[in-house]
Amino acid sequence: MRDFLSNFGLYKPYLIHENFKISDKKFSLPIDFVGQTFDYKCKHEEEVRTFELELEKASENYFNSLMKLEKELFIDNKLDYTFKVVGKCTSCKKYHIDLFLHIYSDDFVSRTLISRPIVHSPGMVAKKEDPDAKLFIEKVGANPDKKIEPNISVTKYFTRKTNQWYYKGLNCINENYGIGAYAYFRRIIERELINIIKDIKDLPSSHKSEIEKLLKAHEEDPTVSTIYDNIFEHLPHSLKVLGDNPIKLLYKETSQGLHSIEEQECLSKAKAVQKILEFTIQKINEENSNIKDLRDLIKSIK
Ligand SMILES: [Zn+2]
Repeated sequence: MRDFLSNFGLYKPYLIHENFKISDKKFSLPIDFVGQTFDYKCKHEEEVRTFELELEKASENYFNSLMKLEKELFIDNKLDYTFKVVGKCTSCKKYHIDLFLHIYSDDFVSRTLISRPIVHSPGMVAKKEDPDAKLFIEKVGANPDKKIEPNISVTKYFTRKTNQWYYKGLNCINENYGIGAYAYFRRIIERELINIIKDIKDLPSSHKSEIEKLLKAHEEDPTVSTIYDNIFEHLPHSLKVLGDNPIKLLYKETSQGLHSIEEQECLSKAKAVQKILEFTIQKINEENSNIKDLRDLIKSIK
């Protein structure tokens, strides 16, 4: 639960119970979340701190009365409800975040599972006819949003337009919106991959004239994708350390039609493209700044 609260983005489900039964029903009711701790960034202290969950007084009363109504927690006999919790920074005790949590089961849940007798009787076990249900939780809202952290080398490298797609792509990844994320990262690669190759060509340790030839051939016929395959041996060493061709990977991962892939596959592809793209641009920046440092040094000893 700590991992879920600390790290999961919106709409990413976390399995609370594989087989939800009476002997183990923690985190099935809002009250179970009170006092639960997790790690989160405190905006006052600009540090990751321990946060603790509480229910607002109003919702505490609401859920106490709701438990008497029970049916409010169910839709079609499945557990299915949303509630708000407040996470407070235990360090400064000032900063807080709001989370909207959605709890749901994939199958019928007996209402007797939910009711909480004041004294827990040890003989109480799930009746045989209770079906096995999985119980999930997901965040459906967060205020403020968990901040996305763009890679600074990337944002410095791209234009404002491309950065907008980059931010949107990161946001989609953060919210587990795979198709959206994939669409933005595909657009970035379509627009920037040749520019990236041109920048790589100008790096001091690239094979400039060989890459130039590949670029020229590509310009004559942009439908030919051989440039992505053939550039590898001409890359500077720092871009070869993956043992795989990052340019080819970027091209390959984004050249597939959107219609043919599922949400989940889109998400993993978008994440892969994000990481390889950040790696590539970081290496270009490093190569450039290394040579600049060296040139400055040489100038200073002349
Ligand atoms: Zn704090």
